[in-house]
Amino acid sequence: MKEEKMSKRIISVVMLVLMTLPAYVAAGDDTVVVYSARKEHLIKPLFEQYTDATGVEVKFITGKAGALLERIKAEGANTPADIFMTVDAGNLWQAAQAGVLQSTGSARLEENVPAHLRDLENRWFGLSVRARTLVYNTEAGVADKLTTYEDLATRQWQSKLVLRTSKKVYNQSLVASLIAQHGVEKAEVTVRGWVENLAIDPTSNDTKALKAVAAGIGDVAIVNTYYFGRLMKKSPDLPLAIFWPNQQSTGVHVNVSGAGVTKYAKHEDAAVKLLEWLSGVEAQEQFAGLNMEYPVNERVDLHPVVEKWGTFSSNSMNVAKYGELQAEAIKLMDRVGYK
Ligand code: FE
Repeated sequence: MKEEKMSKRIISVVMLVLMTLPAYVAAGDDTVVVYSARKEHLIKPLFEQYTDATGVEVKFITGKAGALLERIKAEGANTPADIFMTVDAGNLWQAAQAGVLQSTGSARLEENVPAHLRDLENRWFGLSVRARTLVYNTEAGVADKLTTYEDLATRQWQSKLVLRTSKKVYNQSLVASLIAQHGVEKAEVTVRGWVENLAIDPTSNDTKALKAVAAGIGDVAIVNTYYFGRLMKKSPDLPLAIFWPNQQSTGVHVNVSGAGVTKYAKHEDAAVKLLEWLSGVEAQEQFAGLNMEYPVNERVDLHPVVEKWGTFSSNSMNVAKYGELQAEAIKLMDRVGYK
């Protein structure tokens, strides 16, 4: 009887050790788990570099932003994710709103990432900047007529404008920025004008919009510059060029890709350190350069191809606005029949 009690006790002690052991191992700072809506080829080289430099292993899965966010929500306190990484401030804002991210107090992150490119409560940080600008057909004779996003709503652009679908968060963020800048009424006049000026139905992606302009189907499209960079790398002879709009007024519409530490991160310190490294000088050149984007860290040089596109002034409104006004933007686009 005594013996039985003893062995029971041993078993329970062993059980206790076994139960706490994985948690203890997991709490170490030798691993970080990232759920990424950024594609593998854009992040893997950097994570490998980080592991080489620090010995910290970066485990990651990739997927669609919405699906990964749902997964983190469903996993709740058991989520293995330490970092949620995605594109567009609209998506990052959604994650913060869903309560799956935590505020990160890091002087280095605050120094590396300008205030307008991160969450006000530091639940997410921009890690690269994408400019959503105008690309025009160089044979259409429109170079000197281009001025602003708003001007693309005027009659002179009738049947000349190519836009990507309003379902894409990039355009929801762009319209949200117009609402933030001008109010709903004026923004609606602009977007209604855009829809009236469409050369073809909205395209499913930015590259198709660019190809339509290159083919002369329209004269000008609103796209992220890295799609232009990718297409021109493949087909350098296409008659396309970048135009930087709103240089006398609000500046070019910029957005971010970025990341935040999850609320239930098991490797919180390691997660913060990885974000600090990703926003630092060493990683930024690659993080932005791999996708021909712009670094968030202003001390970092531009990718040589990106540098050739010229300098521009960008809108300095806080990108979190795009999330705050996303629902309003979707309603507006629906009202004016922007498909
Ligand atoms: Fe994209």
